[in-house]
Amino acid sequence: MSDHEAGQVRRFWEGLGLPGLVDVHTHFMPERVLRKVWGYFDALGPLTGGVEWPITYRRAEGERAALLREFGVRAFTAMLYPHKPGMARWLNGWAVDFARRTPDCLHTSTLFPEPDVGTYVREAVEAGARVFKAHVQVGAYDPADELLDAAWGVLAEAGVPVVIHCGSGPAPGKHTGPEPIARVLARHPRLRLVVAHLGMPEYEDFLDLADRYGGVRLDTTMAFTDFSERLAPFPRRALPRLAGLGDRILLGSDFPNIPYPYLHQLRALERLELGDAWLRGVCHDNAARLFGLPEHRPEHRSGH
Ligand SMILES: [Zn+2]
Repeated sequence: MSDHEAGQVRRFWEGLGLPGLVDVHTHFMPERVLRKVWGYFDALGPLTGGVEWPITYRRAEGERAALLREFGVRAFTAMLYPHKPGMARWLNGWAVDFARRTPDCLHTSTLFPEPDVGTYVREAVEAGARVFKAHVQVGAYDPADELLDAAWGVLAEAGVPVVIHCGSGPAPGKHTGPEPIARVLARHPRLRLVVAHLGMPEYEDFLDLADRYGGVRLDTTMAFTDFSERLAPFPRRALPRLAGLGDRILLGSDFPNIPYPYLHQLRALERLELGDAWLRGVCHDNAARLFGLPEHRPEHRSGH
């Protein structure tokens, strides 16, 4: 099945004339943490919204990375996140090692409001972190917490993007929704926040923030899929806004923790009918620019 799917995924981006995909929202984390996450989805934990959530790509780490390569994903991330203090440093240490042995993974780090967060975020940036992940729902913290102020400052200054799960889907948390993020941006207007899941279900409020702050981007993770459209449909009236922000929408998938095949996320973007130029930006070019990926010249061969 996956051979077949890989072929279909490749035909999708080849048809757009792209050199591949860039997926800013894929999960790699220490194996025992990932097992716990899967166990949580299996048990329909409260943060899943109580919805049946079969994990499509429950495989060993190496197989998961190999599958992304078969799909033609040129660059991906290791979205990892702590749910309590004292955990982020350990996760970041793991992520350094993972990025070293996985060159197509953008070195990812995370944070949590705790006294040493400013220090370890600076260390991670100095060690070459290309992207951060923050999870307001699972971490159950206020992103505008004073403890995080220095960390946001470091990230804004360094221009390192932060993929942040801050919308209230699939289930709201104490600090989810646009308001706490608006407070963070008021203090750090240049912060490159990538709002995960397109801000689901508060899509339009987060589009407002993107209109107001040029550094704000949104990832497509799970948005527009049949699964999400049942739970939190994207308002049709906001489609022209997506077109207008076309250079700040980035492909994200939530691989491997998705309850449908990877191809479905791509088809869900295609059926919005926002055009091939929009798809090229979203599926590759916007993220390639943001992360400074080398230009791909498939025909070029040296030594001739
Ligand atoms: Zn995710």
